Amino acid sequence: MADRQETIFEKIIKKEIPADIVYEDDQCLAFKDINPIAPTHILLIPKKHIAKIGDATEKDEKMLGNLMTKIRVITNKIGINDNFRVVINNGEKAGQTVFHLHLHIISGRAMSWPPG
Ligand code: AMP
Repeated sequence: MADRQETIFEKIIKKEIPADIVYEDDQCLAFKDINPIAPTHILLIPKKHIAKIGDATEKDEKMLGNLMTKIRVITNKIGINDNFRVVINNGEKAGQTVFHLHLHIISGRAMSWPPG
């Protein structure tokens, strides 16, 4: 028995709820954010559950490395291989609302720095 509530992203992985999937392999899934903050807004998630990046340990190195290199695969596939931002919110006060690690890949408009 899981000692936590399943997140909406796990339901998307299991295809229990629909998502606009742009890339999938045995380790990760990428789909369009339902509430995009830019013309392109993709979420890239590992299939293995980890609540947030701040929980990652050495045992997660392979999975995290895989996610990082899939950024190239996905941005090439959707044609935004230049000029995009990758964001990971960690914890409620940093804006995290879904507690399954996800990388926001955002593109298609000018972006300011520092972020809010
Ligand atoms: P964060 O605030 O960093 O935890 O990001 C969670 C993101 O998930 C937000 O940008 C939401 O718009 C997005 N989101 C929540 N539910 C869904 C869903 N069912 N399909 C696609 N994106 C979602």
